[in-house]
Amino acid sequence: MKEAVAGELAAAYHSSIVDGVRANDFRYESGRLTVHLAREFGFCYGVDRAVDYAYQARRRFPGQPVFLTGEIIHNPHVNDRLRAEGIRFLSDPGEDWDALGNGDVVILPAFGVTVGDMARLVGQGCTLVDTTCGSVLNVWKNVVRYAQDGFTSVIHGKVRHEETRATASQALKYPNGHYLIVLDREEAQIVCDYLRRGGDRMAFLDRFGGAASPGFDPDRDLARVGCANQTTMLMTESLEIGEMFRAAMTDRYGDVEAAAHFRAFDTICSATQERQDAVIALLDEHSLDLMLVIGGYNSSNTCNLARICAERVPTYHIADPGCLHARNEVRHRPIGAPSTTASREDVTRDWLPRSDGVVIGLTAGASTPNNIVGEVIEQLGRFAAG
Ligand code: SF4
Repeated sequence: MKEAVAGELAAAYHSSIVDGVRANDFRYESGRLTVHLAREFGFCYGVDRAVDYAYQARRRFPGQPVFLTGEIIHNPHVNDRLRAEGIRFLSDPGEDWDALGNGDVVILPAFGVTVGDMARLVGQGCTLVDTTCGSVLNVWKNVVRYAQDGFTSVIHGKVRHEETRATASQALKYPNGHYLIVLDREEAQIVCDYLRRGGDRMAFLDRFGGAASPGFDPDRDLARVGCANQTTMLMTESLEIGEMFRAAMTDRYGDVEAAAHFRAFDTICSATQERQDAVIALLDEHSLDLMLVIGGYNSSNTCNLARICAERVPTYHIADPGCLHARNEVRHRPIGAPSTTASREDVTRDWLPRSDGVVIGLTAGASTPNNIVGEVIEQLGRFAAG
């Protein structure tokens, strides 16, 4: 079946331009323009596999409705193509989880589903096509072990992100399991301060109540913590947050006792790490006028690539070539905007320098297919020629 869909996948997502750029030492030149492509970009192994499984499922169950619980990955083009293949999204208006029945085929996305949703689908007799990425499963394994051993999982992630919700639900598999989700260093610092000195319990719950397990009590549930993260967060920030908690536990319990109160495992996904490392290398190697980062506006790993770039050069996070709609105007997602404003776009005029010899860096998030990257390069080539 894998061979049967290989042609369809290549037709949908392959780009000969991208192949050419790779073969040319990740460089594209046209007129006054040079584009340097990061050496790791675009579809990761987990996304490749999830999309492949979805196409295979469509073929394996012909004439039968095939559902997805929601977006398979955070890229609108990929999701729309799956809709065009006839796959129905349970998150779309008019769809109804309760109407699912025996034998209905349901694809689970790369970032997994919550323990509750899984139980519900199994209970309704659905045939499941599970595309949950192995790197996500690795995080779950650690979170379950924390719960089993009475440790609260502190998850560096986004409260509303599907993967983080699924990971947090794993912490509740054991009666003493708890979780607390922290978004960034600032939130981690608040928790670490509480850990060291205690504080206003109600204020803590006001701030973190929606990001913690039901009945969470900071005075009880921060006594033993284990760190985990959403696989697509900024690697440096995840590591820093882990160290912040280690230091706080050491301050509270002393060097010897701290080991019994704190655990951490490396749960950063290698694909995320490679893309972040590659873009840092790109920024180090070349003197760039600007960076373009391509990916869905709700794609966590793409947003983090853009954050890295924006610290060094003017950076535009674009969804697709349509954002480069004119040589003097680009539509883009504001860097660092909260996920709640996923669809907000800014428009910047005169984004492309008029000088001779414009050098642009380019990368794409783990859910961005090569055909979109190739179309962006083509559009840049047209601007350079004009
Ligand atoms: S970004 Fe990492 S965890 Fe997410 S699907 Fe890709 S490989 Fe898996």
